[in-house]
Amino acid sequence: MAQAFFGGVHPNDMKAATNEKAIEQLAPPAEVVIPMSMHIGAPCKPVVAVGDTVKIGQRIGEPGGFVSAPIHASVSGKVKAVEPRTSSMGGTVMCVVIENDFQNTVSEDVKPVEDPDSLTPEQLTEIVKNAGIVGQGGATFPTHVKISSGLGKVDYVIINAAECEPYITGDHRTMLERPDQVIKGATLLAKCFGVDKVYIGVEANKKNAADVLNAKIAELQAPVVVEVLHTRYPQGAEKQLCQAISGRQVPSGKLPADAGCCIFNLNTTCAIYKAVYTGMPVVSKVVTVSGSGVIEPKNLECPIGTPISKLFDACGGLKDDTYKLIMGGPMMGMAQYSVDVPVGKGTGCMLAFAGKEEQYVEHPQCIRCGKCVGVCPIRLEPVFMYKYLMKGNWEAFRDQFHGMDCIECGACTYTCPARLPLTHAFRMGKQQVNNARMAAKARAEAEKAQAAKKEA
Ligand code: SF4
Ligand code: SF4
Repeated sequence: MAQAFFGGVHPNDMKAATNEKAIEQLAPPAEVVIPMSMHIGAPCKPVVAVGDTVKIGQRIGEPGGFVSAPIHASVSGKVKAVEPRTSSMGGTVMCVVIENDFQNTVSEDVKPVEDPDSLTPEQLTEIVKNAGIVGQGGATFPTHVKISSGLGKVDYVIINAAECEPYITGDHRTMLERPDQVIKGATLLAKCFGVDKVYIGVEANKKNAADVLNAKIAELQAPVVVEVLHTRYPQGAEKQLCQAISGRQVPSGKLPADAGCCIFNLNTTCAIYKAVYTGMPVVSKVVTVSGSGVIEPKNLECPIGTPISKLFDACGGLKDDTYKLIMGGPMMGMAQYSVDVPVGKGTGCMLAFAGKEEQYVEHPQCIRCGKCVGVCPIRLEPVFMYKYLMKGNWEAFRDQFHGMDCIECGACTYTCPARLPLTHAFRMGKQQVNNARMAAKARAEAEKAQAAKKEA
């Protein structure tokens, strides 16, 4: 079994509710709300107007820059509105609202590549870019940027199928039900980067998926190797996966590419397969709907832009005493205050919790047990990072305790017996550091402009 990494935790994986349930197609909703920002980088600009007719796979949002990804219609129908709507990240985001005509008319632009084997790295990158593919494990970084910045530098290509967060089973089901897509997508990446083999990292609790992939690799004689990894959270974090498979450590403040590794999420790999073999851009998503508040947990595939209320409806609804909704896993997900927010390209899970699971403590006090230090996979000191942030000293958080290296995995919060909201504090602390950096940059530019004005 591939070598492990420092720290980490073993939460109850809670996957039994959905890991034996096949992916179901959600009945298409009457309306989809497609955000113009579902990726890291510049938001897209809408290129359709109210009243326009659109087809599935038609481009409706143009990238706002190089680090951006186009957005496509996920249903056919009429554009009902182009306006800001509630965002799953808080606040509002510009959205294109499409009224579904239920005709499933596919755009003429959706065409498969005639000879996938002949694609050059540049051609594949262009296809990935035009298909609007972003990191679908939740990171949402535009994949064409990741590929183009790694070409020529990377000698380890890794597919992240660890799916280490509790509850989530969409990747597990995809490996069992769609191994063809996974292996052919991985083969495209092997050719693109010119490597002998691509590694797929699968946690040991998904051994049946590893077996299915191995059978498909043998059948297709594909340049792909399945690495079975220890079941330990956060095995699927990029730096930890890189270390577990390649044995290389990613230095502080650097990316896996700096250690010669490029990591793609399993769903991203399937999206690459679809873009090449069917021509279809990213218009749908597999979402695990689970948690104690859900009547009948399921894995559902739905059009991008489907309101999350429709997912819960398809699972029999929510229990009356549901008190919390989380988009994403319980360790890294975001609490939601509305069931109207739509499924985006990075949405892999919707959780609802009910009953007596709330573990909120009003005035938590650190008892100096040191457990948070022992589980941090980045070898940080969460106890001190928290202490200094609570004093408003984000400079010490940044410089003395390397808080910007925190990957927000939630392992420290999970293990803290005093239930301190550590990860939340670090997320806010990192935001403060970024805000201060941007303010300093704006100040420096303003001073420079003023100096140039004086000279003139
Ligand atoms: S959230 Fe940050 S500080 Fe806490 S364990 Fe994860 S990486 Fe370490
Ligand atoms: S785990 Fe919690 S209580 Fe223990 S040292 Fe860390 S912050 Fe303090």
